[in-house]
Amino acid sequence: MPMFVDTSPPGECIFCRLAARQIPAALVCEDELTLAFMDIGQVTPGHVLVATRRHAATLADVTPEEAAAVMQTARRVALAVQTAFDPAGLTLLQANGAVGGQTVGHFHMHVVPRHEGDGIALSWPRKEPGAQVLQDYAARLRAAL
Ligand code: 5GP
Ligand code: ZN
Repeated sequence: MPMFVDTSPPGECIFCRLAARQIPAALVCEDELTLAFMDIGQVTPGHVLVATRRHAATLADVTPEEAAAVMQTARRVALAVQTAFDPAGLTLLQANGAVGGQTVGHFHMHVVPRHEGDGIALSWPRKEPGAQVLQDYAARLRAAL
């Protein structure tokens, strides 16, 4: 779990303060629902965050319109990153909850330029539980939709 997690209330979290221009940021673009700015941590050069303008903690808290707007801005930014930084690949990452790797509790998506040997790692402990288990999982999800 991350060491530090910003769970400040709406209006007080770091991205709300950044959106309100109360703290400085290197802004890339903004529209009615989203803003894109350089991540202070720059995992690789050109690493951008796309956040909702409105405070919403996680994917469960954004509206369908905000979710769509964040992905549209992320795509726009990703194309610009491709042009400006010419990475070999691009990874989009969106974390929810501290256990999910989220350190700022205001919905955002990372646009990360990728290069061979860039040191970024996400372990992926793959399992193959079998067809019946997959059917049971899918049935649980269909019931929950
Ligand atoms: P998360 O871990 O929640 O997916 O990502 C939060 C990101 O916010 C981190 O990559 C971190 O570097 C970035 N961040 C934290 N504080 C600030 C800040 O004050 N300004 C900017 N631009 N980025 C920040
Ligand atoms: Zn916020």
